[in-house]
Amino acid sequence: MIQTIRDLRAAVRTARVGGTSGSPVALVPTMGALHDGHFALVRRARELGDVVVSIFVNPLQFSPTDGLDRYPRSLDADLAALAAAGVEHVFAPSIAEMYPSGAAETRVTAGHIGALYEGASRPGHFDGMLTVVTKLLNIVRPDYAVFGQKDAQQVFLVSRAVRDLNLPVSIEVVPTVREDDGLALSSRNRFLDPGQRRAALALSTALAAAASAAASTVGGGPDAALAAARAVLTGEPAVRLDYLVAVDPHTFLPVDDDYRGEARVLVAALVGPTRLIDNEIITLP
Ligand code: AMP
Repeated sequence: MIQTIRDLRAAVRTARVGGTSGSPVALVPTMGALHDGHFALVRRARELGDVVVSIFVNPLQFSPTDGLDRYPRSLDADLAALAAAGVEHVFAPSIAEMYPSGAAETRVTAGHIGALYEGASRPGHFDGMLTVVTKLLNIVRPDYAVFGQKDAQQVFLVSRAVRDLNLPVSIEVVPTVREDDGLALSSRNRFLDPGQRRAALALSTALAAAASAAASTVGGGPDAALAAARAVLTGEPAVRLDYLVAVDPHTFLPVDDDYRGEARVLVAALVGPTRLIDNEIITLP
């Protein structure tokens, strides 16, 4: 485990010159509390080059009510699992190492899409996320950075920032890893009691309902698909819906009811005190 920027840069430099033509480096940014979803990202990174996994719970992307203190942490178990997965470098800096002058004054802003959906519920979240991702890219200078489709808005905004700011990195996206019953893996799932765990299934079930409603009605628009999803979510009393929306994957703006083709349905809900998100592509014929 490497804790300082200086040591991390030295380790990456050594790894690069170790390869014949300079091995590519693939960064997997995480907040720790690792699960099989994270390890799918690690496996993809392995295919691309030497792997750097960062573990940093970034205070800048948490609002005072977001529960930074409650965020799950399991550093020892994470390190053991990463070692078993053959990861070359784990970068786990302290807050003081990342923000030596206190919260960063200079920030990367996510623009108007960053204020929608997750950003509407968590103001400033995506600015904080983009700022730390940009810092990590500048610290590691990887050839690739690997993200999970589970956080679809994050993937969209990071890809957008890479284009807008000409960041010299390729973004790789890994499909969402799910439990056998469909629940998307999340570090927060460990907070669910057995009843909440059953109720949480409503998110992925609702997305499946939207997909089949879309597929079964040729000419049916997104509203019918969203209605099918909403029926599943409102039928589960332990689930408090935050947002349910179908977006154009290219613009991430909500689609009109006459939209046809592929749309991404995004859902966020509270299950007890735990906030969960999920998303899937639906095809509107
Ligand atoms: P986090 O530690 O929650 O910030 O997530 C770190 C990375 O893992 C992000 O790119 C997430 O999108 C990704 N990730 C989290 N859960 C999953 C999952 N179930 N499937 C695929 N990727 C995931």
